[in-house]
Amino acid sequence: MTDSITLRRPDDWHLHLRDGAMLAAVAPHSAGFGRAIIMPNLVPPVVTGTQAAAYRDRILAALPKGAALQPQMTLYLTDATDPADVVSAFRDGIIRAVKLYPAGATTNSASGVTDFDRVQPVLEAMAEAGVTLCVHGEVTDPAVDIFDREAVFIDRVLDPLRRRTPGLRVAMEHITTSDGVDYARAGGDDLAASITTHHLVINRNAILAGGIRPHYYCLPVAKRESHRLALRKAATGGEARFFLGTDSAPHPDSAKLQPCGCAGCFTAPNTMSILAHVFEEDGALDRLEAFASLNGAAFYRLPPNDDRITLVRRDTPAAYPAQIEAGEETVTVFDPGFPLFWHLED
Ligand SMILES: [Zn+2]
Repeated sequence: MTDSITLRRPDDWHLHLRDGAMLAAVAPHSAGFGRAIIMPNLVPPVVTGTQAAAYRDRILAALPKGAALQPQMTLYLTDATDPADVVSAFRDGIIRAVKLYPAGATTNSASGVTDFDRVQPVLEAMAEAGVTLCVHGEVTDPAVDIFDREAVFIDRVLDPLRRRTPGLRVAMEHITTSDGVDYARAGGDDLAASITTHHLVINRNAILAGGIRPHYYCLPVAKRESHRLALRKAATGGEARFFLGTDSAPHPDSAKLQPCGCAGCFTAPNTMSILAHVFEEDGALDRLEAFASLNGAAFYRLPPNDDRITLVRRDTPAAYPAQIEAGEETVTVFDPGFPLFWHLED
């Protein structure tokens, strides 16, 4: 049995670090990743290059000395986004991508796009300059069942958008269905998809069976088991178009444990231990590096990280905290429901 694996330092192509006291609390837990695409859904959202640069400075200040993490900033696409600002922020190295949230799709997404005709000039400028569009792929139409919103988004929004914007590079974020897997697989080199750690582990029963479990509630919501298995196959199969984006999304427990609780799983602390378990279970440990460290960088046209990390399988489980403190609040760490024998070495 393999008991040690060394990989290029992994990247996280979808991460929420928040701001203020929460940023200070959670940033150190992502410090061991090489690069991370930082989500712009603050209150108010990060919509200009100037705001992205200021947010990057706050993140760098919150990281411990010697942290590997290089934040890759994004702009929040709104009906009022200026194409020239996007292109100059990209060319100046301030941003790596632009994020599309359909209005109202998830946490702090009220400023999202309501009118795709108005953002078409931005998308065309991005296609021309090679800026990636990161897409939260769910429709917000209340008539569409929440478990169908990803599949309907692909048909109604994503596919038409890609057809009318040839050359636009699109990252389907945190796909959760076999429909998402199939659509990503059928695309060309300008299409890829990220997959979270938790969607490889839980299906919707984790949220609903035997009592309601708010810490497993996230958006897009976990789907039925057949979809989880499709994601597992995509992630562990070594295909270049699938890569890690944890969507680690911390909320204070006081906001999760409510009659109307927030969506998000906080997976930053134990993601690599969980992934090693998942890939080992699927007989694919040799493909973990492709998923976590190589495929995403290649899609973003970046070299892989130079340095490496080592995971070691021990007889005793790694001791991750159940919660971390964030100012006056606590944040619950994602519990995969099995012991984590893979330890991340320092
Ligand atoms: Zn997210």
